[in-house]
Amino acid sequence: MAQRNTWQRERVREALSDVQGFVSAQSLHARLREENTGIGLATVYRALAGLAARGDADSLQSPEGENLYRACLTSTHHHHLICRSCGLTVEIEASEVEQWAHRTAAANGFTEAEHIVDIFGYCARCAATRAKERDTH
Ligand SMILES: [Zn+2]
Ligand SMILES: [Zn+2]
Ligand SMILES: [Zn+2]
Repeated sequence: MAQRNTWQRERVREALSDVQGFVSAQSLHARLREENTGIGLATVYRALAGLAARGDADSLQSPEGENLYRACLTSTHHHHLICRSCGLTVEIEASEVEQWAHRTAAANGFTEAEHIVDIFGYCARCAATRAKERDTH
């Protein structure tokens, strides 16, 4: 049984690294279902949460309140720019944010402060498509 769970978790991790941007457990489960892996949605949820807890995946909440995951290229602390239409994700460093967060925490007597800063918007390509759609309506 433990063996089987390990295999499933590995498969979820692989599927996650095949995806370009952030995905929800549901859409990753849908991809796995196409491959007839027989992995259930609950297993996908658990596997993703486990990967995120171990730092093997990034997790964040979309503005719609959905948990999204991604196998990140960078293992150190970083931020993301995410297209809310196509999911394109750019990993960014933000030294201004690091300094501001540190300063603000210290000014309020907080130590070991952590922060999550991700920027959602439309990438250049999606913005162009949307502009075109608006013109034709
Ligand atoms: Zn990342
Ligand atoms: Zn886009
Ligand atoms: Zn930061």
